[in-house]
Amino acid sequence: MMCTDCCVFGDYNETPLIFYWEVETLRNKARSVGASIDIEPYLSVEDAEGIFTYIYRWKIQGRCPFLLNGKCIIHEDKPLSCRIFPLIADIESSRIYVSGRCRWVREHKELISPSSIPEVFDEFELAVKIIGMVSKFIEISKNNGWRIIIHGRKDA
Ligand code: SF4
Repeated sequence: MMCTDCCVFGDYNETPLIFYWEVETLRNKARSVGASIDIEPYLSVEDAEGIFTYIYRWKIQGRCPFLLNGKCIIHEDKPLSCRIFPLIADIESSRIYVSGRCRWVREHKELISPSSIPEVFDEFELAVKIIGMVSKFIEISKNNGWRIIIHGRKDA
């Protein structure tokens, strides 16, 4: 039986972050399975014209609607946050951490250290790209004088 720990959520802070270009795909996929997704702004910028949200938080409580029979039914289209799991890209601190929600991680703690993470996890390269992409966006926003809004963390 496949492990599906990563697709069942209890901690709000570990629910997936969704880039703005991923939102429509996710909504369409949800419609196709008769589900709805609940997203809220996470990182936005404001200029004289208004507010633009770059990253959303996908508020999944419990089981992801795309988890069926132990499989992700949108595997080809799943968001970047899902692709890098069990790594989590912490946007606010620009750090990558390993989620203890992953059973494999819990069972192989002896293999995981800050220096071993790039070798142990194939997902590391993509996680670094994500952090770099967001850092660049924030840098551009600051250079343009746009107000950066982090919508805040909530307790689970
Ligand atoms: S989209 Fe797929 S990989 Fe991501 S949480 Fe849902 S079932 Fe899991």
